[in-house]
Amino acid sequence: MPPQHILVIGAGGLGSAALPLLAAAAARLTVIDHDKVELSNLSRQLLYNEDDLARPKAEVAAERLRRQFPNLAVRWRAEKFSAENAAAFFSERPDLVMDLCDNETTRIAVSDAAFARDTALVTAGLAGMHGQIAYLRRGDSGCYRCAFGAGDKSGEGTASAAMATMTGSMAALVALRALAGNETAGRVVLVDGETLATEELRARADPKCAVCGHTSQKGNRK
Ligand SMILES: [Zn+2]
Repeated sequence: MPPQHILVIGAGGLGSAALPLLAAAAARLTVIDHDKVELSNLSRQLLYNEDDLARPKAEVAAERLRRQFPNLAVRWRAEKFSAENAAAFFSERPDLVMDLCDNETTRIAVSDAAFARDTALVTAGLAGMHGQIAYLRRGDSGCYRCAFGAGDKSGEGTASAAMATMTGSMAALVALRALAGNETAGRVVLVDGETLATEELRARADPKCAVCGHTSQKGNRK
C-alpha cells in the first residue's frame, strides 16, 4: 500500500480501537475531536487513562500514536467537524476519511463533505449491542443519508468497551481494505453483539438524493 493519509473524525470508543490499527498502516493521520477526556470515558475508551482527564482527546490520541509509531505523521485538532470547517480539513487531500463520531449531525456533515470532494468514506456507529460499518464512495454507492437515512439509532445507548473495540477494529479493517483497493464500495455490515451474527446490506444512491443521486452513474468519478 503506498503512503496514505487518513482523516479520522472522532476519538472516542470507536476511535480508541481504530486509531492504533490505522496508525500501524498509514503514513499520515489527522485526528479531529472536540471533546475532552472525562472520567466516565475511561472504562470504554481504552486509549486514555486518569492522567489525561480534561485534556483534548485528539491531542492525547496524537501523543500516544506518535510514541507508538515514531515514523507516523500525526496532526490533531480539538474542533467539532461541521460543514463550515470541512474545507480546511479536506484541503490536505486525505486519501480516506473515517467517521467514528457519535451523532447524526456530524455524520451527515462528514458524508456530505466526503462526497462533495470524491473522498472515500468509512463510517461506523454503535447503539448498545449493535454496530454498523459502511464503506461509501461517490459514484459507486449511496452516501450516509441514503445508507442510513433519518432515524439512524447509532449514538444511542451506552456501548461496552468490547462492542466499541470490536466495531472500531472492523472499521479500521474496512478502511485498510478500501485503501488497498480490496473493499466493495456500498457494503454495509451490521454486527449484533448478542449473537455475533453479521448482516450485509448494500448502500445504493437514491436518484433523488441531492448529495449522491446525480453522481450515481459510474464514469462520473475523477
Ligand atoms: Zn445520498
